[in-house]
Amino acid sequence: MAKVFLNPGHDPEYGWTDYYDRGADNESLCLYENTVAAAVGKLVEQYLTAAGCEVKSLQDESLKRICCAANNWGADLFVSIHCNAFNTIAQGTETLTYPTDNEGKKLAECIQRQIVDIFGTVDRGVKTRTDLAVLNGTDMPAVLVELAFIDNNEDAVLLRDRQDDFAKAVARGVTDYLQGA
Ligand SMILES: [Zn+2]
Repeated sequence: MAKVFLNPGHDPEYGWTDYYDRGADNESLCLYENTVAAAVGKLVEQYLTAAGCEVKSLQDESLKRICCAANNWGADLFVSIHCNAFNTIAQGTETLTYPTDNEGKKLAECIQRQIVDIFGTVDRGVKTRTDLAVLNGTDMPAVLVELAFIDNNEDAVLLRDRQDDFAKAVARGVTDYLQGA
């Protein structure tokens, strides 16, 4: 049974402090990255559990704590869930991996393909990053998926209204990878 560690991005809703990080936002739609990630993450957990995976999920302000939890649990796969933001015009989906993480790249391609197929979002592709703690601090294949751009109104409406479809896409990406797609 594959052990999948999920990390909805940024601080959990209950973690209010002066340094509270709710991620990117769309003020006009009252939409915040941390709550979108939490909602999608919860649904991904349900779908993956139903598909026979063992799932652990942690949304936490400490990236160190997240990496330690995944490593100590002995996760087989790590998936961090985020929303992108740039200039309100950029839109689409991208999935990030660490450059030497070849299995992570395969997992990223499976998740990226599912989201783009389901939504027809702009395919920004699979990209490598060396500076992300959850990618360079985890021992297992790890990806960070940027579902869509929360500051772009067209993407943000999808993030608001179709969280279940995003979750299905991420879960299917994981099961595609596990089946060697
Ligand atoms: Zn983020």
